[in-house]
Amino acid sequence: LRRNPGETEFHQAVHEVLDSLGPVVAKHPQYADAAVIQRLCEPERQIIFRVPWVDDAGRVNINRGFRVEFNSALGPYKGGLRFHPSVYLGIVKFLGFEQIFKNALTGMPIGGGKGGSDFDPKGRSDGEVMRFCQSFMTELYRHIGEYTDVPAGDIGVGGREIGYLFGQYKRITNRYESGVLTGKGLAWGGSQVRTEATGYGTVYFVDEMLKTDGRSFDGKRVVVSGSGNVAIYAIEKVHQLGGAVVACSDSSGYVVDDKGIDLDLLKEIKQVRRGRIQEYAEARDDAQFVSARTVWGVHCDIALPSATQNELNGADALTLIKNGCQIVAEGANMPTTPDAVKLFAEAGVRFAPGKAANAGGVATSALEMQQNASRDSWTFEHTEERLAHIMRGIHDRCLQTADEYGTPGSYIAGANIAGFTQVAEAMLALGVI
Ligand code: NDP
Repeated sequence: LRRNPGETEFHQAVHEVLDSLGPVVAKHPQYADAAVIQRLCEPERQIIFRVPWVDDAGRVNINRGFRVEFNSALGPYKGGLRFHPSVYLGIVKFLGFEQIFKNALTGMPIGGGKGGSDFDPKGRSDGEVMRFCQSFMTELYRHIGEYTDVPAGDIGVGGREIGYLFGQYKRITNRYESGVLTGKGLAWGGSQVRTEATGYGTVYFVDEMLKTDGRSFDGKRVVVSGSGNVAIYAIEKVHQLGGAVVACSDSSGYVVDDKGIDLDLLKEIKQVRRGRIQEYAEARDDAQFVSARTVWGVHCDIALPSATQNELNGADALTLIKNGCQIVAEGANMPTTPDAVKLFAEAGVRFAPGKAANAGGVATSALEMQQNASRDSWTFEHTEERLAHIMRGIHDRCLQTADEYGTPGSYIAGANIAGFTQVAEAMLALGVI
């Protein structure tokens, strides 16, 4: 705590992992001898930089840019960039720390990192976003590369931003180095399914959870928070698998549509118009808009928090439990507060942590890197089958590991321990570096 003052979210993420590791350190004293945990908690490198840019009115704006290169024992640092006014070092470090274990769980050769800026893209013109991205990359380019550090998108960073970032990287370096960023457009080195991967992957993970006791999505009522990249494709896959998503949200409130969210309309509002969720209710007679902090008051069998950190607290958990919710799976990173996680465990609600449930995004980024390295591009069907296979693998590995370490059924313990041991083994083999 003294070493990282004020980094609340980072402390929370570290506690959550360390809570699971008692039985691991007891079984493998060599991890303690080599100070693996202490080394894991200290990023290998942290970069903080000024991002000056000029807005449409000709004013000079200054934002702060971050890249935290957390751990490269398994491969180049890999993790997204977040553009949101709430971004500061504590957020980037929590995300980077989580990313180490998530990436290990995918079984792909990728280390953990994360970055971003306190820039708010909301309400900014395309030209302003482009100039910001160009300025951000003018510093970031010297730290990244196919074999070094490979950023992708996150909150506020989608296909448009990755395009501007890649364009500036290419221009400065004079290299068409496709493998330096993932989440690229299909025409210029992107992978099929990358856009859909995090949301689809989360729903595949829940489908595996349902299968363990002979159930399926058929007829299930689902609530998803957020209406960004993860939320939209989670909704799409739930509908494909026979469930109905009846509510979703943004930071201004939520919409309920008991007939099931009309995805074409939602995509038009969020992806084309970059509008607010209220516009959905204005366009649909059957839907209502509610201005509220969260969407968790809406009755559901399955809840998929897919917006942001700490968006589902203890009070929300009690409401979900009272309303009969049986499964919670994190599409977002750390959306559930520790007291809510505890309440779900006590009530027997099955809970999938983000580092397992939302790993499909980064796994498909690693598939994008594979395609770039071999100058190949795979079909949608092939890539989606690879994603589904990876998610089944993560699910089974979590359960097997939880069994092995005496916490049967705990996806939290399974994910933390399986991710940790894989990184710890690599760190031991590489020596004290
Ligand atoms: P987007 O920017 O596409 O969407 C974010 C959504 O969450 C928006 O609806 C946004 O509403 C809402 N939101 C963001 N911040 C807040 C806030 N402080 N309070 C309330 N609502 C908020 O981001 P993504 O969908 O890409 O990311 C969502 C989550 O999933 C994040 O936690 C991210 O780290 C995680 N994730 C993303 C991956 C990816 O591949 N994109 C991979 C793995 C995890 P509004 O527009 O009103 O701000």
